[in-house]
Amino acid sequence: MTSICLFRRDMRLTDNPALAAAAANGPVCAAFWVDAVLRAQGAASRWRVGEALKALDVDLRRQGGAMTVVEGDEAAVLALASAIDAREVHVCDWPAPARLEADRLLARTLEASGLRLVVHHAHTLLPPGAVQTRQGKGFRVFTPFSRAARTVGAAPPRPAPSGVCWIVPAGLPPGFAATIPDLAPDMDRGADVVNAHSPPAGEAAATTRLAQFISRSADYVAGRDRLDKQMAGSGLSDALAVGEISPRTVWAAAQDIACDPEHAPAAEKFMSELLWRDFAWSLLIEAPWMESKTWNPRFVGFPWREVREDLTAWQRGQTGEPLVDAGMRELFVTGRMHNRARMAAASYLTKHLLIDWRAGLDWFADTLMDWDPASNATNWQWVAGSGPDASPFFRIFNPATQAEKFDPDGVYRRRWLYGWQGSKSDGARAFFDAAPRSWGLDPSRGYDLRPIIGLAEGRLRALAAFEQV
Ligand code: FAD
Repeated sequence: MTSICLFRRDMRLTDNPALAAAAANGPVCAAFWVDAVLRAQGAASRWRVGEALKALDVDLRRQGGAMTVVEGDEAAVLALASAIDAREVHVCDWPAPARLEADRLLARTLEASGLRLVVHHAHTLLPPGAVQTRQGKGFRVFTPFSRAARTVGAAPPRPAPSGVCWIVPAGLPPGFAATIPDLAPDMDRGADVVNAHSPPAGEAAATTRLAQFISRSADYVAGRDRLDKQMAGSGLSDALAVGEISPRTVWAAAQDIACDPEHAPAAEKFMSELLWRDFAWSLLIEAPWMESKTWNPRFVGFPWREVREDLTAWQRGQTGEPLVDAGMRELFVTGRMHNRARMAAASYLTKHLLIDWRAGLDWFADTLMDWDPASNATNWQWVAGSGPDASPFFRIFNPATQAEKFDPDGVYRRRWLYGWQGSKSDGARAFFDAAPRSWGLDPSRGYDLRPIIGLAEGRLRALAAFEQV
């Protein structure tokens, strides 16, 4: 029986249960669906999906296949299925609220014509709902979640199916394409800059990144917080977000070094970070509203300031607070931001500037290449203090102290702040090529910005606002 394997956030051949199931049935047509859910995503994440798609298409062509791109609503997928006489459409899950809703619609449309949508678990380490409290509910606190998740244990990754009989439909009607379209034309001139400053896309590149990280991981525990160390983390978040590598593959690689005394602490910490990703998904699946609604009702009437200029200054790396601005510019140039800088920038926005975490979440959703709706929402609510297992609101990161501790020689800030302490770094200069011309930024002015608010004053203002709720 012919099947469609619809790739979404599983841009790989290895440990891809949708592909394995489709291939076990008979001939497979590899397809990608450009629909409203994809179009609603941020530019950077769409661009990253597009890069993964191009790389996967190259891998498919090496095996005699090719990606067929379908554009439109559910009827377009049905039309492709009819054109090649496919009876089943296999997909890996991506439990983002909008995708779950779209999958329900797609399943109904296919069923009405006697076809089946088969959804396979793949995006998280453990299937949604596999980790629950004794009362059968989702965990609200990470530590017990992680303990329970380790007890359940992750399944080993499966190899890529061999000898797949690929079908590449010929003579496609309008609405189908055999070439990969530009998914993010709105990246504008930023696309070239991000392209030059990001690691290569694709399954092979992600697998290499994992192997390189594992071999140098002994320094992970101390190094992951250091802003000045470029390669201390795995750098796999974007590959995981688009599914160029499966979390089970990453987990298995960490497990392999967990018994080696030199690597055991790093493996332990790394596995715990991977479980944070699963924890975030378990929260979003339980509370699909958490991208837009505050988890802790205490924050419902929080007196956020609606000051457009302050938000704009934060978005454009112009707050005058060097660590925050460096992070925000790194984001614009690379589509990524060091985790420590994300925490400092998010804390500065929600506490020193007292701006609603949702404005920050939206900006990250638009600009992060590794955008993941669950991690983004969970971390923003964590920093803001409104999440289920959150950092208390009164824990206000001081960006100056954070910089002293994690960027003691200013290496990170010089890397991203053109003109700061005489920096002429290429990455810092590239920010001006990535930023829209309408922002009117001029590198020749250097970095000479007055902070929007003094750190002590901002802290007191935040604590006073918190007292009100
Ligand atoms: P490593 O240290 O190598 O960790 C391995 C993997 O574990 C990561 O690739 C990631 O998948 C996962 N992970 C690590 N830290 C976290 C965390 N705090 N929460 C959830 N998963 C984690 N991460 C995203 O992938 N997408 C997002 O949209 C996102 N938004 C964030 C927003 C804010 C405000 C903050 C503070 C953090 C956010 N993070 C997000 C988490 C984190 O910053 C990145 O996952 C991390 O920087 C990725 O670097 P790495 O791959 O080297 O991580």
